[in-house]
Amino acid sequence: MRPAEGEPRWICDEMLGRLARYLRFLGYDTEYARNRTDSSILQQAKEEDRRVVTRDQGMAERSPRVVLLRSLEIEGQLLELREAFPALRREVRFLRCSLCNALLEEADRSSPRPPKGVPEGPWMSAAPIFLCPRCGQAYWEGSHTDEIRRTLERVFAMDRSHRSPSSEAPRR
Ligand SMILES: [Zn+2]
Repeated sequence: MRPAEGEPRWICDEMLGRLARYLRFLGYDTEYARNRTDSSILQQAKEEDRRVVTRDQGMAERSPRVVLLRSLEIEGQLLELREAFPALRREVRFLRCSLCNALLEEADRSSPRPPKGVPEGPWMSAAPIFLCPRCGQAYWEGSHTDEIRRTLERVFAMDRSHRSPSSEAPRR
């Protein structure tokens, strides 16, 4: 699967490392900016047509490319981002490495022995396995996607109750 044309690309600032991982699990091209000045982040965003996601009010005031998030929690952050970008994807896809953002490659299953980091079980199953050509991280459906999927489900359940007047919770 290749990245879709015209979909948003992101830079998450230092405070949003977990969000960067989630955006990569959603298949988005997402830089994680560590030890960088605001100016260099904004410059990269301009050059590469990226949106900057930050919790820094000062940064948000410097450019219309910046999306300011308030929440400290991943659920709240995803919800805020989805409010700003209603088309934000909600399904996990194995397209980018969650650790380094490189495009993943499907593993060659002709070898009887699994590559480093892949247990025998998944290797012998028919499920696809993806490898990062840059850092070597392996991905397959299993325990490490379950938590991500559960979080996304919680977020988008909140999203629905937020949007639909018929399912609005009674005010307390
Ligand atoms: Zn990687």
